Amino acid sequence: MQHLDGNALAGALAEFLSFDVTTAIARCNGCGATDEFARAIVFTSPAGTVVRCPSCDHVLATLVESGDRAWLGFSGVSAIEVRRG
Ligand SMILES: [Zn+2]
Repeated sequence: MQHLDGNALAGALAEFLSFDVTTAIARCNGCGATDEFARAIVFTSPAGTVVRCPSCDHVLATLVESGDRAWLGFSGVSAIEVRRG
């Protein structure tokens, strides 16, 4: 099977990464629950932001910002559902 490099993702990911996160639905790696990000439990501190599952408290996502750089992790999410249109 022929493969492409990561540049082939540019169009699809550009559309996907511009979604409204509050309406996106995340599946928790910890308990399998699916829920809108808007219902997640969010903790903020000067060190960064931690997003936790409202059902089991598992960490869904983290955000760390420093100067002109940011690191966004979705290590606790197995899938994100985005509604188009
Ligand atoms: Zn959970």
